[in-house]
Amino acid sequence: MESLSNRKKVLEQKPMSFGERIYLPSILTGLAITFKHIFKKRETIFYPEQERPMSENWRGLHSLKRDEQGRERCTACGLCALACPAEAITMTAAERKKGEENLYREEKYAAVYEINMLRCIFCGLCEEACPKEAIYLDGPFLEADYVRKDFIFGKDKLVEAPLKS
Ligand code: SF4
Ligand code: SF4
Repeated sequence: MESLSNRKKVLEQKPMSFGERIYLPSILTGLAITFKHIFKKRETIFYPEQERPMSENWRGLHSLKRDEQGRERCTACGLCALACPAEAITMTAAERKKGEENLYREEKYAAVYEINMLRCIFCGLCEEACPKEAIYLDGPFLEADYVRKDFIFGKDKLVEAPLKS
């Protein structure tokens, strides 16, 4: 039947040549390629014993920073959550109480701060949006786990360790 678009191609199935039928030339070509790779520099990296150096633009796990006096920098303004294209960040703000000035830098702080690492695409926009230099993606790799809820990182995993006095 005539093709309407006129773009139809009729494929011919040519009979195989003698060389193609005995497969030997193809097998020898394959072996030659394998043999050539024996003398090439090995590209394999034996992780975790060997580690590839990270680029300067490396984005790892998030950490919530403290100031030079050990107080949490985050003021729960929510800009990181607004900037996040994956909607991975949620938080609950709270008012700093009297006597907590040594814990939180601003009058408002994040009582709850969570990042869903299963949603996060490590774009770094939260880091860029933060006006308080409170969040950085300067941590290590995200490790594998078995349970989905363990990928919701709260303040216990995000806030950096207190300063040593
Ligand atoms: S790195 Fe990107 S996706 Fe991940 S929490 Fe920050 S803004 Fe959201
Ligand atoms: S991490 Fe930065 S942007 Fe996000 S709520 Fe805290 S202060 Fe605001």
